[in-house]
Amino acid sequence: MKNQKKQQKQPQFNQYWIFGSIVLVFLLLNIFSSGGSQSSATTTPSKFFEYASKGDVERIEIVNKREVFVYLSRDARLKDEHRNSSKNSLLSIASKNPNYRFEFGDLQNFENKLSKVNDENNQNIEVNYITEQNIWGDIIISMLPFIVIIAIWIFIMRRMSAGGGGAGGQIFNIGKSKAKLFDANSQVKVTFKDVAGLEGAKEEVQEIVDFLKNPKKYTALGGKIPKGALLIGSPGTGKTLLAKAVAGEAKVPFFSLSGSDFVEMFVGVGASRVRDLFKQAKEKSPSIIFIDEIDAIGRARGKSNFTGSNDERENTLNQLLTEMDGFGTNTNVIVIAATNRADVLDKALMRAGRFDRQIYVDLPDVRERKKIFEVHLRPLKKSPSVDVDFLSKQTPGFSGADIANVCNEAALIAARKNKKSVGKQDFLDAVDRIVGGLEKKNKIITEDEKKAVAYHEAGHATVSWMLEHAAPLVKVTIVPRGRSLGAAWYLPEERLIVRPEQMLDEMCAALGGRAAEKVIFNKISTGALSDLEKVTKQARAMVTVYGLNDKVGNLTYYDSSNGNEYGFTKPYSEQTAETIDKEISAIIEKQYQRAISILKKNKKKLIELAEVLLTKEVIFKDNLEEIFGKRPFDKEEPKETKSK
Ligand code: ADP
Ligand code: ZN
Repeated sequence: MKNQKKQQKQPQFNQYWIFGSIVLVFLLLNIFSSGGSQSSATTTPSKFFEYASKGDVERIEIVNKREVFVYLSRDARLKDEHRNSSKNSLLSIASKNPNYRFEFGDLQNFENKLSKVNDENNQNIEVNYITEQNIWGDIIISMLPFIVIIAIWIFIMRRMSAGGGGAGGQIFNIGKSKAKLFDANSQVKVTFKDVAGLEGAKEEVQEIVDFLKNPKKYTALGGKIPKGALLIGSPGTGKTLLAKAVAGEAKVPFFSLSGSDFVEMFVGVGASRVRDLFKQAKEKSPSIIFIDEIDAIGRARGKSNFTGSNDERENTLNQLLTEMDGFGTNTNVIVIAATNRADVLDKALMRAGRFDRQIYVDLPDVRERKKIFEVHLRPLKKSPSVDVDFLSKQTPGFSGADIANVCNEAALIAARKNKKSVGKQDFLDAVDRIVGGLEKKNKIITEDEKKAVAYHEAGHATVSWMLEHAAPLVKVTIVPRGRSLGAAWYLPEERLIVRPEQMLDEMCAALGGRAAEKVIFNKISTGALSDLEKVTKQARAMVTVYGLNDKVGNLTYYDSSNGNEYGFTKPYSEQTAETIDKEISAIIEKQYQRAISILKKNKKKLIELAEVLLTKEVIFKDNLEEIFGKRPFDKEEPKETKSK
């Protein structure tokens, strides 16, 4: 409020002023340069020589070697003939202005002709040579570059400071906060209804809403109100959405900005932006400040300070901490921040009295995904074939943003096919596209390669089908996408602790691809690289991290306090290193042999599956059931985590 008043008193400076003054200058220029000479009548050289031979001409001026100004003699001016000359005009009465003017063409010719006329009539017309300068024009032309530069500079400055809350054109606005304000006018329309799932997180923030609506209830009992909440979770899980919903529910102004908005190349700008942000928020209190990606400024101080460039960020962070400490419990400003890297944040930020509430926003599970789908399917015209349960099962590991993206992409795909409504297949195509990138229709792949891929994927599918602890299969495809030629997708169970049998079964299934190539073609290929990488990591973890190997024993070489694994020296002897290596390869070899024996036993079914895959390219669980019969170990409703 105060800000606005102050600005109105200052002269408003805008582009129109610049344009206006330029136009004015040109007008002036025109008036001055024309002087009086414009007011004289024009004539032709032949007429001039006619006058000259009559003796009417007193003197002439040759201007800029181009034009002649003719001054008549006193008597001639009174002649009827010359009535139309400029003698009658006001300016020429003083006879300072020429009566006629004309351009003569070639100077030499003109001079020759003039001297001839002079000789013939025995007279001597006075000739002056003049160089007339257009002073004003010259000045303007020499100043033009400066005018242009200044105009551009003013324009840029106005642009730069335009983010500062819509203020006028002063460069001083660079220290103003760039927060976007959503308030009563631009109502935040998001409510908790728009946030699907996230029950726990919603409950936590509900209290913040209550407080903002009714602070007395809490302060009357002497309670202190939280000053900040930190939302932690992977990108796209709905942190921004949740913060907006809090503002929408509490019906308070909502200042939204990103951590990187504080950072600028000028020293001290970040800190002053923080100050300004809090000042604005206090003026509008009760209000919410939302800082997205707070790790941009909230990174632990003092670490990796090789260059001086961190000082600016530290100043900004310090200012933020000071402001959060500074406002009392009755200021009614709550700061909500979001990050996906809580581990790098400065400990001081998490201290009680600052972001003392940490709310985890996880990737949605199958139930939550269904709810998110329902939210985003609402605006779509969908055909009855669309089954939300099926879709949520097809999208393990998807975040809320991914699901929103799937729904949008499906609508686009359906529109491209000129459909009246969005069908099941459009959703499946959208899922595939988001997971694997664009389908590579024209990727050159030979028949042999395709066959190898089909058997490889069928191998994974067969082995995992036969193993109790392997994750249940969702779908197998040999459509090349992105960098992969084919893929088998599973729904892994959500487990908090993992038993060795489960790890071994998973490794066996991962080796099923290569095993199938070996069993069928008796040849192996490079296609199993990512499988091998996964298996090797898992085996190493069993031995060195989880203490699941008998030979190495119940110890771990994992050090939670040390980020980079071993540093320079290994924490075990050469002998142990040898044992570890041997154990790792023994584990993997054993699972490989197991996969091979499973596939040899089920060779007929494996071939059948691979052939179906070759013709259909994509197969689902149902197709596998047709070949293998019902899977004996399947539980009713598997829960799941992320998978690839
Ligand atoms: P983050 O801030 O965690 O990166 P956003 O809040 O910006 O993620 O989420 C991006 C989009 O994803 C939202 O605008 C919304 O459309 C969708 N979305 C994410 N989570 C949910 C959810 N739980 N319910 C409904 N939509 C969601
Ligand atoms: Zn594989």
